[in-house]
Amino acid sequence: MPRLVYSSKINKIRSFALILIFTGILFMYIGLLFKNTEWLMIIFFILGVISVVFSVVVYLWIGMLSLRAVPIICPSCEKPTKMLGRVDACMHCKQTLTLDKDLEGLEFDERFNKKSYLKEAKQKIKNGTSKNE
Ligand SMILES: [Zn+2]
Repeated sequence: MPRLVYSSKINKIRSFALILIFTGILFMYIGLLFKNTEWLMIIFFILGVISVVFSVVVYLWIGMLSLRAVPIICPSCEKPTKMLGRVDACMHCKQTLTLDKDLEGLEFDERFNKKSYLKEAKQKIKNGTSKNE
């Protein structure tokens, strides 16, 4: 299996918001290219404004998530980082982290954040069949 690098959720959402802003600016720029076709220009401008507004909403959302995130010191790089949910990755060194003792030593899986999947996984550990189905 290829080794995947998981990035921290907060970082992921942050890059998503950044991409949205650039998309918005790009839309408005494309709109300018259609100066002669007014309706097309307006459509691109509206799309641009929607993207920018949406990214602001996402940034606010990150702010709220950060408040709920658990601040910890990464055991790998010893820098302070924040964890969202049951499993997450360090913001600095991408070290995978878990708050759940039962999951320690298990292959990192983002699906552990889902309650149903977590239950299933724990059941498998109990039955000693966590390696293969
Ligand atoms: Zn780290």
